[in-house]
Amino acid sequence: MSEVDIPMSVNVPTRAALKSIPAYKPGSAPQARPGAPAYKMSSNENPYPPLPGVLDRAQAAAAQANRYPDMFSTALIERLAVECGVPADDVIIGTGSSGVLQQTLLALCEADDEVVYAWRSFEAYPIMVGLTGARSVQVPLDDHARHDLAAMAAAIGPRTRVILVCTPNNPTGPAVSRDAMVDFLDTVPEDVLVVVDEAYHEFVRDPDAVHGIDLYRDHPNVMVMRTFSKAYGLAGLRVGYGVAHAPISTAIRKTAVPFGVNHIAHEAALASLDAADALNIRVGHLTAERSRVVTALTDQGWNLPDAQGNFVWLATGERTDAIAAALGQEGISVRAFSGEGIRCSIDSAEANDALIAALEPHVSRRGYRH
Ligand SMILES: *Cc1c(COP(=O)(O)O)cnc(C)c1O
Repeated sequence: MSEVDIPMSVNVPTRAALKSIPAYKPGSAPQARPGAPAYKMSSNENPYPPLPGVLDRAQAAAAQANRYPDMFSTALIERLAVECGVPADDVIIGTGSSGVLQQTLLALCEADDEVVYAWRSFEAYPIMVGLTGARSVQVPLDDHARHDLAAMAAAIGPRTRVILVCTPNNPTGPAVSRDAMVDFLDTVPEDVLVVVDEAYHEFVRDPDAVHGIDLYRDHPNVMVMRTFSKAYGLAGLRVGYGVAHAPISTAIRKTAVPFGVNHIAHEAALASLDAADALNIRVGHLTAERSRVVTALTDQGWNLPDAQGNFVWLATGERTDAIAAALGQEGISVRAFSGEGIRCSIDSAEANDALIAALEPHVSRRGYRH
């Protein structure tokens, strides 16, 4: 803290690209209300604590914090290679799958290259594309809040280096279908990388949904990204992974922050993979809660897009800020995209009940488009 608060005049320029990059807005915490419960449904976090066995392993790892972690996350890479049925060379570990995505774009994009993705989608995309100096080409979602793959194919140009496909789409919810994705890949030039972002993969129950790893097996230009942040409940430890064919994977490893994935995160991820049965039970509870919320809101009259992640999307249009504020008064924080809609995470049954009750007075029958 400086002792005087006279502003210094700083003349050091920063990169021009930063001017057009929005700041990432984390989901807000609920307002504290004395004596009343508060529910954070704004960040698609898991309401459950880390899986059984994870904290013990993390604690043991913390005792070695004087040492650098394994720079190559060897044990986790080997384990994930087995889990996914892919060569260890093709697995990349990063600081969350956001970290893997940032490494990927840094490895592939030059200034003025283009990255095609659906919009609205994950809000980190425009930030991470912008940081590389590349340009975002945003393709509007269709009337059901799904990726419009035909329009995305039409948006591919000579400068396109990467296409991001978010399935299920954050924040709207639908998964991309396998058949549509296979047809789409036929139209993508072989020198364009298609990243299938499967952050919510474990929650998908749509039998027609694409499985990125299957596509990666048949297509040298397909990459998959997954995370321990959502279903596994390790958002705070920052660990995720990608699967891409060498030499793409080799290039992506070069753009990592050295030792970015720490030993606690590494061990917690390994222990989480050992707890597959407990994971499946929890994910089952959360998808059952999702169905319950979707049914209750549909009965109220809401018109929801297909929800395949751990969240639901309400197309609240110009009433978005007012409804989000009203939910805030009830102790519920949600993710509001002003003028578009509200994303509400599926949480404990109690939180979901509170959400359902709080939304009742605001019912909108509008479709996704507004
Ligand atoms: C949450 C999320 C991620 C990854 O989050 P990390 O915590 O960085 O692993 C990636 N993509 C989408 C669409 C997400 O919603």
